[in-house]
Amino acid sequence: MRAQDDILFRDRLKARLGPRAEEFSETLIEMLHALWRDGELHGAGAMCDHCGATEGVQIIGAMTSYCARDGEPDPNHSTPYCPECAQQYREHWTEMWDEYYAGRL
Ligand SMILES: [Zn+2]
Repeated sequence: MRAQDDILFRDRLKARLGPRAEEFSETLIEMLHALWRDGELHGAGAMCDHCGATEGVQIIGAMTSYCARDGEPDPNHSTPYCPECAQQYREHWTEMWDEYYAGRL
């Protein structure tokens, strides 16, 4: 079983590259993941996708359930968010799912 951060990394790769990510060898993916981890450790490249903040950024798993289409980037990919934007994202989608399950959507 793959570690959670490895799964998130592969999600991000697919979201950025679409079907081209499938052409990458396992060795290349592992090398890219090592570079990505280095970047995270040194604070490089960790930027909120919503507001551009760089403090406390974490990769947040998608709460969406959009229909994935072959050959297109994964619409339910995880995203780096700062704490404020992560909270807004979670609140927004929790509310949307509550409305969905209450039959109001
Ligand atoms: Zn933000």
